[in-house]
Order: sequence, then C-alpha cells, then structure tokens
Amino acid sequence: MMSPDEHNPGESLETLDWGPAVESAEEARSWIEQSGTQPAHFIGGEWSAPAAAKRFSSRCPATGEALRDVLQGSSEDVDRAVQAARTALPTWQAMGPDGRARCLYAIARNIQKESRLFAVVESLDNGKPIRETRDLDIPLVVRHFYHHAGAAQLLDETDPGAEPWGVCGQIIPWNFPLLMLAWKIAPALACGNTVVLKPAEWTSLSALLFAETCQKAGLPDGVINIVTGDGETGAAIVAHPDIDKVAFTGSTEVGRIIREATAGSGKGLTLELGGKSPYIIFEDSDIDSAVEGLVDAIWFNQGQVCCAGSRMLVQESISDEVHRKVEERMSRLRVGNPLDKAIDIGAMVEEKHRDQVAAMCERAKGEGITCIQPPIDLPKQGYWFPPTLFRDAPLSSEIASQEVFGPVLVSTTFRTPQEAVKIANHSRYGLAASIWSQDIDTALDVARKVEAGTVWVNGTNMFDASSGFGGMKESGFGREGGREGLRAYLRDVKPMTPTDGDTSATGGIVNSTSTDPALDRTAKLYIGGKQVRPDGGYCFEVQSPSGELLGLAARSNRKDVRNAVEASHRSKWGSMTGHARAQVLWFIAENLEPRSDDLAQLIDQMTGCGAAKAREEVQQSVAGWTWWASWADKHDGAVHDTPWRGLVLAVHEPFGTAGVICPQQNPLLGLVALCAPLLATGNSVIAIPSTAALAAVEMCRIIEHSDLPAGALNLLTGDAAEIGPVLAGHDDVDLLWHVSDEPLARELEAVSAGNMKVCWRPGELSDRSRRMLDRGTQVKNIWLPHGI
Ligand code: NAD
Repeated sequence: MMSPDEHNPGESLETLDWGPAVESAEEARSWIEQSGTQPAHFIGGEWSAPAAAKRFSSRCPATGEALRDVLQGSSEDVDRAVQAARTALPTWQAMGPDGRARCLYAIARNIQKESRLFAVVESLDNGKPIRETRDLDIPLVVRHFYHHAGAAQLLDETDPGAEPWGVCGQIIPWNFPLLMLAWKIAPALACGNTVVLKPAEWTSLSALLFAETCQKAGLPDGVINIVTGDGETGAAIVAHPDIDKVAFTGSTEVGRIIREATAGSGKGLTLELGGKSPYIIFEDSDIDSAVEGLVDAIWFNQGQVCCAGSRMLVQESISDEVHRKVEERMSRLRVGNPLDKAIDIGAMVEEKHRDQVAAMCERAKGEGITCIQPPIDLPKQGYWFPPTLFRDAPLSSEIASQEVFGPVLVSTTFRTPQEAVKIANHSRYGLAASIWSQDIDTALDVARKVEAGTVWVNGTNMFDASSGFGGMKESGFGREGGREGLRAYLRDVKPMTPTDGDTSATGGIVNSTSTDPALDRTAKLYIGGKQVRPDGGYCFEVQSPSGELLGLAARSNRKDVRNAVEASHRSKWGSMTGHARAQVLWFIAENLEPRSDDLAQLIDQMTGCGAAKAREEVQQSVAGWTWWASWADKHDGAVHDTPWRGLVLAVHEPFGTAGVICPQQNPLLGLVALCAPLLATGNSVIAIPSTAALAAVEMCRIIEHSDLPAGALNLLTGDAAEIGPVLAGHDDVDLLWHVSDEPLARELEAVSAGNMKVCWRPGELSDRSRRMLDRGTQVKNIWLPHGI
C-alpha cells in the first residue's frame, strides 16, 4: 500500500486506487500546542496545575510523536475535584430540570459547532480513522447530549420524586474517548448529579477540549471536573469516601477490582466491561451484506471495540464461500494515516497494546491455528497491526475465548441454529451479538436465546442514546443510554438492614444439642421441589424470644448450596409464559390463605410480635403473592425510537438464578416480598430465610402442592453469614438480593466479583413498585433494521 507522500496521480488512474484525501490537522494541532503549554486538570471551573504534579506524554499512535503533556492526577487532586463537585451540587440541583436541560442543549450545540476540531483531535490522539470520528463518534456524542437535554427536561414526569446520587466518579477507556465521556456525563447531569471524570491515560485530549466546551456553554463551575491520570488516579476516585456513585467502562479485570473495592460501601455502581461477541452467519443470509457487515464489526476502530464481532460463527454449508469472500475483502482493506478520509484501518492506540495483540496472535500461531493476514505494507512509524483472521480456532483456545481488543477475527463453523446458540453462549462475556439470516423465525429465535445485552439482526454496531447499551455475565452490569441508563444515575432505595422493621428481631443460630426424639421432626430443606435432609445432617434450634424451643431447622452447608444451584438450573420456570407463571403464583396465594391462622400463630411464637401483627404479616404475604402474580405477564419492554430505520425491541429478560438473603424480621413476609417479584419475572430463586425459619419452611410445604415447577424456588435454612458468601460466590448464580449488615454486605459483594453478578440491597418489604421488577430483569435490546 502506498503512503500519501509517495502518491502518484498518474499511477492512480492506471490502478484506479484511491488517492489520499487527508483532513487538515492545522486547527487541532494549534489547539493541542496552545492547551499543552500548561497542562492542567479542570477542577471547579478552573484549570489547575499543582507545582509538583508529575506529567506524561499523550502520543499520536499514527506516528509515535508526543502530542503534548498531561498531568498525573494525585489523590489530592481527586480530593479537590470531589470537593468542587460537592460544592456545585446545590447550585446545579437548584437549576431544576429546565435549567439543566438548557445546559445540556448548549453543550450539544457547542460540540456540534466544533465537531471538526473534536474529530481531528480524537483521530490524532487515538489513531482511529477520521471517517469514524467524523461520522460516528462525534455525531453520537452530540445526539447523546441532545437526547439527555430532553431527558433532563422531562425528569419530573418520567421519574417523579427521584433523587440524583450526588457526586459521580466516572472512569473511561481509550477506545471511544469522547463518546464514552458523553455516555457517562450526559445522563449524570440530566439527573442532577455532578461529576469527577478521569479519561484514559492514552487519550485525555478530547476530555480536556470538552472541558473548554463546558465553559463556553455556561455550565456552572464544579459541575464537571476532569482529572487526568492513570489507574492510580482512577483507584483514588473509586476509593474516595465522598463519591456517591462509581461508573466505570473498561476491562473486566479492572471492573473486578472496582467491584471488590466498592463492596459494602453503598456506592452506586455500574460496570461496562469487555466482550467477545459472536457474529453468526446462517446459510440463508444475504452473504455479501454479512461479509460487508463483518468488516464493520471487527475492523472498525482497529477492532478495539468492546462489542466487536470478534467471533465469526458460520454455518458449515456456506463456510468456504464466506471465508473466501472475507479473505478477499481483507486484502482490499486500506491501512494507514487516520486523517486520510479513504482509510479503513487506522493505528493501534499504543505500542504496548499493539505488542500485546501481536503476542496473542503469535501464541495462537504457535498452537497451530491457521492465520490469515493479507500482505499489506504497514507504515514504518507508529503502531500498526494488519487485519487478521484465525480460521477454525478451537473454542477453548486463548485466541477464541479471550478478548484480543485488536483487528483479529476468529472463525468457527456450526451446523444447526441450536449449535450456533450453544457456541455463541460458550463465553464468560455477554455484551453483544450479530445474527445474519433472511429467515425471521431463525433470526428472532436465536436473538432471544443468545446471552447478550445488545443483539443486531442483519446489522452490527448500531448505537443510539435512546437505547440502552451494556452487558450480561462478565461484560458487567448496568446500561448506558435509554431509560435504564438514565435511572442508573438516580439514587437507589435506602437498603433494609437485617433487623429493621417494627417486629422484634429474632436471634441468631443456636446449634441443636437436643437428644429429643423430636429430631425426626426437623424441618428439612426445600431443593428441586422436594423436602431434603441437609448434606451435613446438622440442625439448629428455632426459639421463641424467651428461649423456648419451638422446633428444629436444617442447617445448610456449601454442598446444599451447590445442589440448590443445580436444581434451579434444571428448572423449567424461566421458559414458561408470564400468563402461566401468574397462574402458579395465584395458586400459591390461594393455598396459603386457608393456613393463615396456623402461620400467624407460628410467627407470633417465633418473634413475639403479637397476634394482630402476625395476622397482618400473613395477610401481607398472601397479598404479595397475588400482587406479583398480577405483574407476571405485564412487565413488558418497549420499542425504542432511534434515528435508524427499523425497530429496536427492548426485551425484559430474567437474570436466571437469583440468590436471596432474607431479612431477619418478618420471617414470612421477608421471604415472600423478595422471592415473589423475582419469580414473577421468571427467575429461579434460592432463598436463605430468617433464622426464625419455621414459617418459611411451612410456606415451602404449601408451595410443594401449588404446581411450582421443581427448582423454581429453593429454600436453604441456616446461617446467612456462613452460606450467604457461598451463594454470592457461586459462578452459576446470576443475581443476588441481600439484606445484610455492613460486614456481611462487604463480604458478599466482594465475592460476587467472581462472575460479576449483580448485587442489590432491597429497600422495604412494603415496596411493591415496578423497581422491584426492574431489579429482577435485564434489558436486551434487539435491533431489527428493515427495508425493501
Ligand atoms: P482498562 O480497564 O485498562 O482501563 C479503563 C480505565 O480504567 C482507564 O481510564 C484506566 O486508567 C482506569 N483504571 C485502570 N486501573 C484502575 C483501577 N485499579 N481503578 C480505577 N481505574 C483504573 O481498559 P482499557 O484498556 O482502557 O479499555 C479497554 C477495555 O474496555 C476492553 O476490555 C473493552 O472491552 C472495555 N470497554 C467496554 C465498553 C462497554 O461499554 N462495555 C466500552 C468500551 C470499552
């Protein structure tokens, strides 16, 4: 391939090759030079540069040259930024929805006016082609601020009474520097939060230019604070005690560190992490479109895209044809100067990153996997990597299972749609998927079955502010964009503690020392639809507040947890329709009601709450089942209005297996109020009830005769402090709702980082709001572009 300098127009006419069409960098370079004379953070509306601050260079990946210096933020800088954000909160909130909407609108307008400058700065600093920054990054940034100006304006209407978190700490990666900033800052400001944001150390420049835009747009001082620096600066933001919510986009490894660091702190947390997204081509697809889409899926932004379609799954019957076309297309990709408007692939962001990608490819070659790289002359300076395909890579190989984050595709074949789904879901990630088929049944069926937050049918890499984007499994939790993305910036409920409430709390675990023959009457566990003895054979005493022995309950151990998880995975509950689930939950209420007197007596004996309160608790429990039964077929999704031609279906899906640690008080209602909404939304549940466990055990005896499929609800009586962490750490548990005190909450949330399961601390047992259903579901956005 010819470099722009060697270009010869005469030869171009002979070869019909594209000539260079280089965007001018003059304005951007002059801004970089002028802004770099005194590198600074943007804190409290001012440029702030501590005298002793360390610096590092931000480089141009296409040439390797140092563009300008950037400051390494210290924990003192972070502290000043957090204070500025805290100070700005009252002014910002007093501006109300209308005032905030105007500011967001002004930011959108200002970026739009300077879009060329932003696009060139981004391409220079990141190495991505100007075609992408100009046509995708910056327009999406602008759209995000416009959309959220509207969201700010309507907040009282859409989320009445909701409150912002306060000060949000936001940490972003380098692959879409300004776009990731917009995805974080726009919804945060719309909801009335203030922000401390740290851009990635390799790409800080567009965030600093954005700070200037905020000044021009008249944003009050301190609402946005930008502190530059590396992971240490990020860690200082995460650890800062006066940060209310942390929003992170980056690698799963760092996401896990942040999950552990925030465990039990009560800080809001959203994590947008890595991916290894399947790109599935069926034999009935429009193959040429699928191949063209693939170019966009994996070679867009040099493959440095979290949702890159990096795993091509192609139906066996068309495999040779597809591979031939892909290879042919690869040979025509143009790699070179990112500012050339006719370039397909720009520079890799950093030498270190390029070397990591190259090393991963060398290891794959060493394993004997067929590697296809077209003979492209790469520029001599800067950091480059050619488009690469590893054909028929074994699913367990590193290259097929780990995120490469470079222009590297792996391919494999499948025979049936079922096999395609299996291979697609054979990944710890669940960020996105593309499905190519002209058959609507195949496309939609597979879209529903693939485990991914975003699914594109006959398309790829479509994004919009009105539609949430985010992952399942180890791709993290939370969404950016859409209603759910906005709500992530509204304060969560105040968590319930194990002993809240107006009935007296019951005591902890007392091991049974009884040699009484009544041991035979020990209440059993409820696993897989059956009453079963605990694995260890141990039990504990359930006593009245005065110490009278009321009965014995089984004491679960880690083996019982594993058995319950297996049973929940075998359950048919999640595949039943909302209507069928509603019928079962109504039937449970029907069967519970006639047992009201016995249960009320038991509750009174265990808690000493008095007959009236105990009766009320049973009534509330019956009402809980009917309430959530009523919702089972009504928590439906939405169709988003995006600027694309087509439909975006936001589908509510259950997480899968949910662990529940019930409160200590209200031994019956505590179980029903948390398990029923999770069941209504189609999750299977494993619940650890209050140690006043006899009412929960009775409830399960009633459930046993109420048509609930085996494994849909499992009850593990015992010590939550002992088995809770086992449940929280189990890789096949997808969600955890826990009522726990601070030390236990910290432990549960820290061990949940193993598979990045979503953890939530419910508010009150009386909460029957839609929020409960939202917390039991994740949104999958299925994009269906169409046209004839
Ligand atoms: P990274 O995790 O190395 O860094 C991301 C950010 O976190 C940077 O700003 C970095 O300075 C900071 N950081 C590093 N260590 C930290 C710590 N201990 N505490 C706090 N902050 C810390 O990721 P990256 O290499 O910049 O980005 C690539 C990754 O981002 C890929 O895995 C990609 O899939 C992911 N990503 C995900 C999405 C999404 O929406 N899901 C979008 C873009 C990128």
